[in-house]
Amino acid sequence: MGGGAMTPAAWAEAYAQRGWQVLPVHSVRSGRCTCGATDCSSPGKHPRTEHGLRDATTDETVILEWWKRWPSANIGIATGAASGIVVLDFDTYKDPAVVARFEERFGPLPVTPRVRTGGGGLHVYLAWAEEGLSNSAGKLMPGVDVRAGGGSAGASRSRPLRMDRRHIARNSSGPDARSHPGGSQTARADCGSSP
Ligand SMILES: [Zn+2]
Repeated sequence: MGGGAMTPAAWAEAYAQRGWQVLPVHSVRSGRCTCGATDCSSPGKHPRTEHGLRDATTDETVILEWWKRWPSANIGIATGAASGIVVLDFDTYKDPAVVARFEERFGPLPVTPRVRTGGGGLHVYLAWAEEGLSNSAGKLMPGVDVRAGGGSAGASRSRPLRMDRRHIARNSSGPDARSHPGGSQTARADCGSSP
């Protein structure tokens, strides 16, 4: 609902209110990571706090303090049990058909929040399951990474998540669940990108 006016702090709070543990992440300014290192290996993608992911929290006081200190920090979300979510990271910038191929193989993805990443990829947020997936890169399928635990997914403030009213669908066993609730028709690779 027109998130243009929302500040990064407000987004971080909104995510925390859903039970997602967030943390401030460096951003890129004038082509350079805000950590100041000219040879930064992960520009705009690594945590600003000392203990990184372990600092992720839903505590509003801490969150407000962080974004008061670093107003333009990107928002990272701790995935896995911590937040109850798994993020599938599709390399749609390399292969626009990767989501379609994924669904052909594993069945339709449920209607859940999605975000178009800064690099042109697509993040699909799913409910984390006890027996769920672990982090992997290209293991399920080429072009698909899994952020499931001890991982973080950047939720860029300028490309806020599109919140589905149903919240995260009850996809109890991850992307290879045979029991997706009613197969959505909206899982096109570009559906997260329209304004
Ligand atoms: Zn850096």
